[in-house]
Amino acid sequence: MLRERVANNVFVFTSELYAQVTAGAIITPAGAIVIDTLPYPVETRQIVQFIEERHGVPVRYVVNTHYHADHTYGTCFFKHARVVSHHLCYELLNTRGRESLARTRRSSRDMAEIRLVLPDIVFDEGVLSLHLGGTTLEMWHAPGHSPDSIICMVKEERILFAADTLMPLPFLADGNWEDYIGTLEDLLTRPFENVIQGHGEVILRGEVQEKVKEDLEYLRCIHDKISEMLRKGKDFDAVEQIEIEACGKSRIPLNGLVQQLHRTNVETLYQALKNQREEIEVSQPIAN
Ligand SMILES: [Zn+2]
Repeated sequence: MLRERVANNVFVFTSELYAQVTAGAIITPAGAIVIDTLPYPVETRQIVQFIEERHGVPVRYVVNTHYHADHTYGTCFFKHARVVSHHLCYELLNTRGRESLARTRRSSRDMAEIRLVLPDIVFDEGVLSLHLGGTTLEMWHAPGHSPDSIICMVKEERILFAADTLMPLPFLADGNWEDYIGTLEDLLTRPFENVIQGHGEVILRGEVQEKVKEDLEYLRCIHDKISEMLRKGKDFDAVEQIEIEACGKSRIPLNGLVQQLHRTNVETLYQALKNQREEIEVSQPIAN
């Protein structure tokens, strides 16, 4: 696990075991707030140790930015913390999360000790502000990557924990294209110092706008290309040929994993747009 200090009291932890997934910690005199956890117990335990032993404060809150396993599996290692999330995260953890954890525990000895923890503080719309030891963490709903995704901002430092809304390539297999565009457009209107992505490197102030614009271009590009192909009656084989570079992104980040994410994005969006077209075709004769 790599550890980086992004402000006096704000740390980022990056997994060396799974897809450069990140977690964060805000250390205050009244305790710590942890934003997401790492999937392998050995790495989350290092975060617990760093906060409790090196800084001598308890972890008071754990924020689950969304229900996906790579971000929530470590929640159970913060035994005395209260857990905060969007209400949809609670629902999804309690259904899909519960099922997938049962499968993971059966198949992986490393994961056998993980227990499901459901959030005990949930919110819906608007901004939830958490005040602790002179620091304010603001959270709001930011769907797109997943229905329950939220974004967190350390208000005093203007440091953004974007979770998987920002990663080297937008990933929408469990999300929604329109929501993703709306969430990214909203980010463009807000100034930040540093941005912590859900996976990959910290983005510095001068690079934030560029990064968000690039992600919007990528999402619009795959949408345009797939729509055009569907109009021309092309099938999935043709859509699969859309290269990641043709939409302005490199295939290198996350040790090449982005190439796989791109394939899944194209497949997901193809299905969604195809379904939309079929619904329109079915509804037309009735309208006539
Ligand atoms: Zn993730």
